[in-house]
Amino acid sequence: MPAFVADCHLGKLAKYLRLMGYDTLYFTHIDDNDLISLASAQNRIILTRDRELAERRSNARLYFFDTIDTKQQLQELIHAFHLEKYHAPFSRCIVCNTPLQIVEKENIADRLPEKVKEHFSYFEYCPVCDRVYWHGDHYRHMLEFLRSVIPR
Ligand SMILES: [Zn+2]
Repeated sequence: MPAFVADCHLGKLAKYLRLMGYDTLYFTHIDDNDLISLASAQNRIILTRDRELAERRSNARLYFFDTIDTKQQLQELIHAFHLEKYHAPFSRCIVCNTPLQIVEKENIADRLPEKVKEHFSYFEYCPVCDRVYWHGDHYRHMLEFLRSVIPR
C-alpha cells in the first residue's frame, strides 16, 4: 500500500486519508527539506499544493494538486494510486495515524459518556494517543462523506 506525507496545507486531506485507512503523516509545521528527507527515508509520497516544492529536484516521489477541493483531491489520489483496493475505513486513528485496535466495552466503560455507554457496544481505540472511537453521529457523517467520494 502506498504511504503518504501531506504538506502543512493539506491537513483536511490527511484526516480523510487516515479515515479511509491510508497511512498518511501530517505535520502542522515542517520544513520542505525535512519533508523531502522524511519522504525519501520512509518511502512516502509527498502530497502538496506548493508548486515550488513540486518543481524541486529530489529523490522523493510527489503528487501535486491543482485543486483546493478536498473531495476532488481524494478522488484524484484514489485514481492515481489505485487506492480503492486498500480501502479500510475507520481502521486508523485520524489524530495520529496509528492503526486502531478493538477494545472490550468493559475495559473503557468508565471513560464513556452515559448515552454512548447505553447505545453502543463496539469500540476501537488508539494505543498511541489513547482515544476511543465508536460509531456515533460523527461516524455516520463521515461515512456519508466517504460514500460520496467512492460511490458504491
Ligand atoms: Zn491516535
